[in-house]
Amino acid sequence: MRIVAATNNKDKINEIRKVLENSKIELLTLENINFIDEIIEDGDTLEENAIKKTLTIFDFAGIQCFADDTGLFVDLLNGLPGVHSARFAGDKASYADNVEKLIKELSLCSSNEKWQAHFRTVIAYVDNNRSLKLFEGITEGYIIRKPYGKGGFGYDPVFEVENTGRTYAEMGLEEKNSVSHRGKTLRSFLSYLRGVAQPG
Ligand code: IMP
Repeated sequence: MRIVAATNNKDKINEIRKVLENSKIELLTLENINFIDEIIEDGDTLEENAIKKTLTIFDFAGIQCFADDTGLFVDLLNGLPGVHSARFAGDKASYADNVEKLIKELSLCSSNEKWQAHFRTVIAYVDNNRSLKLFEGITEGYIIRKPYGKGGFGYDPVFEVENTGRTYAEMGLEEKNSVSHRGKTLRSFLSYLRGVAQPG
């Protein structure tokens, strides 16, 4: 079974490949289907963005596909950066710029050592009949003041997973996937696919 992953983010693709490696799914990337345009993520919710990405790619390639949209939701910031996680520090912000801005904002608001937050991923899947199905996964944790760990990407070095005392960046790919928002979402997506199409 061939499915397009509607993302250009190599870090996400690595995690997705790892979860799907023992399934019979052949994962295609945007590079594989020669899609070079940028899809503007201007929705107000993760769902809107994920649906926009997956339908854009389906209409381009005519092959079933899925898109992941993820946000980091910090309680003290009323859910920010949330749907704006990629561009929290500006349109061209790097992962490091976003982390720096987040810690700065939180430090200005409170003297806590860490702050309650969660990651949420939504996957929008469109099948060969252009029918949509949504999946989600949430992982609770804390934003910590000082980055720890060398792995992962994005906000991983400052996100400590609840009940582990460790950041995502301190975990290997497999361990992160076993507890992460994206890992949980991908496993429920995979189990759905197994039910409808037995991809293995
Ligand atoms: P996107 O809109 O789903 O591409 O993700 C938005 C932003 O959230 C990314 O640019 C990253 O900064 C951050 N992000 C997404 N997934 C993760 C993750 O698994 N760990 C840390 N940060 C992430």
